[in-house]
Amino acid sequence: MFDDVNDLYQQVILDHCKKPRNFHELPQCSCSAQGHNPLCGDQLKLFLTLDGDVIREASFVGQGCCISKASASLLTENIKGKTKAEALATFELVRELVTTGKATGEVGKLAVFAGVYKYPARVKCAILSWHALTAALKGEGVPVSTESEKN
Ligand code: ZN
Repeated sequence: MFDDVNDLYQQVILDHCKKPRNFHELPQCSCSAQGHNPLCGDQLKLFLTLDGDVIREASFVGQGCCISKASASLLTENIKGKTKAEALATFELVRELVTTGKATGEVGKLAVFAGVYKYPARVKCAILSWHALTAALKGEGVPVSTESEKN
């Protein structure tokens, strides 16, 4: 599926797919959320640690296709240090990027997903982790994990 994406972008995605960054749970997280893309079989859980309005730590676990894993890996790198509002604004840019191939703002490394718009079935893979991010931020202070009994 990468025939039309340039080599650099392909290499970054494959690298993050094979060696996902921040690929672990955050036991002391402020909030978390699960994402599931039944069309592809992607499943992931995102963990965030907040300091006031700022995202200090982000991590994920899960399984899925290369695009979904690379997207979650790059997401965790991208949002660290951002405010909640900045992270959600970045989601809007990513959504724009993967559905049109262009973004109207600075997306940094996330530009590697510019080619995804040519493959509509993959768009949901690319933004699954961002949906999980939105769910986690909305559920702040109320972990959705059924395993969490701590306050
Ligand atoms: Zn997928």
